[in-house]
Amino acid sequence: MFADLDDTTKRLKDALTAFMEAYIYPNEKQLLDEGLSVARWSHSSLARELQAKARAQGLWNLFYNHGPEGQGLSNYQYTHLCEVLGRSLAAPEIFNCNAPDVGNMEILSLYGTKQQKEQWLKPLLAGDIRSCFAMTEPAVASSDATNIETRIERAGGDYVVTGRKWWTTGAMAESCKVAIVMGKSDPDAPRHQQQSMILVPMESPGVRVERPLSVYGFQHPPLGHAEVVFDRVLVPAENILLGDGRGFEIAQGRLGPGRIHHCMRFIGLAERAIEEMCARAQDRTAFGSRLAEMGGVRQVIGQCRTELEAARLMTVKAAWAMDQRGNKEARDEIAMAKVFVPTVTGQIIDRAIQVHGGGGLSEDFFLAMAFAETRFLRIGDGPDEVHREALARSELKRATARREERTK
Ligand SMILES: Cc1cc2nc3c(=O)[nH]c(=O)nc-3n(C[C@H](O)[C@H](O)[C@H](O)COP(=O)(O)OP(=O)(O)OC[C@H]3O[C@@H](n4cnc5c(N)ncnc54)[C@H](O)[C@@H]3O)c2cc1C
Repeated sequence: MFADLDDTTKRLKDALTAFMEAYIYPNEKQLLDEGLSVARWSHSSLARELQAKARAQGLWNLFYNHGPEGQGLSNYQYTHLCEVLGRSLAAPEIFNCNAPDVGNMEILSLYGTKQQKEQWLKPLLAGDIRSCFAMTEPAVASSDATNIETRIERAGGDYVVTGRKWWTTGAMAESCKVAIVMGKSDPDAPRHQQQSMILVPMESPGVRVERPLSVYGFQHPPLGHAEVVFDRVLVPAENILLGDGRGFEIAQGRLGPGRIHHCMRFIGLAERAIEEMCARAQDRTAFGSRLAEMGGVRQVIGQCRTELEAARLMTVKAAWAMDQRGNKEARDEIAMAKVFVPTVTGQIIDRAIQVHGGGGLSEDFFLAMAFAETRFLRIGDGPDEVHREALARSELKRATARREERTK
């Protein structure tokens, strides 16, 4: 599992690191703040320019392994690259590796028809459009996706989509052209076959993006997170994904890689937090000594390094397990990383904020936004409790099997 990096990964990692130094860190603030200026929900010419550069350097769609538009990397290879691009919250979109588009491209690759791929996957892979994924609803506990109330009803040659969603990431962007909407198509079917997913063009009459939501005040322009209403939206029947009643199956397939990509990125974010915490501690003096010479601060640094090592090992192991056994069979490793990594990296970033003093809470440093990002992921893509519950189910199943084996 801990083989040296192969030449392709090494080459891409070096190129990504150089790109981050040359273009991302110097422009980070502008890329993240650009929405504060003229057009909050549209991409700036700077973002477009950097995307073109990344693409020209072969640093594009690195996550994608379903065709020639990507580099065909394994999860193990990608995890080492994702850590590099995860160091800045401004970077994933520049490399076309951002949520939720990655998950949506994954869905379209695995389950899309030829025509759906042509119409939506192709421009997404090219970075020409953005997309969103609309599952969560304000009215119901959406961590249990069987609760979802949006209706996807057949009406002749079309479907009619009716419902209210929120936390729909990407929906604020002007370039967001398509939503993958999850809703109930048959409330009388067995519990996990009641839901379907359908591609809804954002320009369809009846789609209303009502308001942006913020995470601790961060609105994350230009993609944003939105509350969206689907008011009797007429969608052609060929927009259904995989078929009626297959929504749950697709949701499971989508979230596996998505969850682990977040963890990979957070390792990079926390690594940078430790670097900046050390630099700050070496530079500042209080009560006659450098912060870096104070026992309390040194304990914190040692603790952060230990915890980050554990988080990295879990993430790499999960990526390796996905390559070896497939996403479904690696679900326990994915769930463990999904619970552990955001919590631990959030703690590391929180400690880095503390060492930075008041500055750490300001937007002069990347830490406050990074903390909000790790905090969100303890709820997004399924709250921690839901993953622990799934882990307990697996563990107890194994325990039962062991007992039965012993009593045979
Ligand atoms: C920044 C951000 C971006 C997001 N992006 C998207 C997106 O693009 N598309 C999308 O559809 N959704 C998105 N979400 C929504 C996210 O996936 C949901 O918030 C999440 O699935 C939880 O659903 P809920 O908010 O309805 O919480 P609820 O289902 O109401 O759960 C509330 C709490 O109940 C507890 N709980 C739930 N189940 C259990 C259990 N089995 N055992 C013990 N406790 C339990 C947990 O503490 C949980 O946090 C995003 C959320 C955020 C914050």
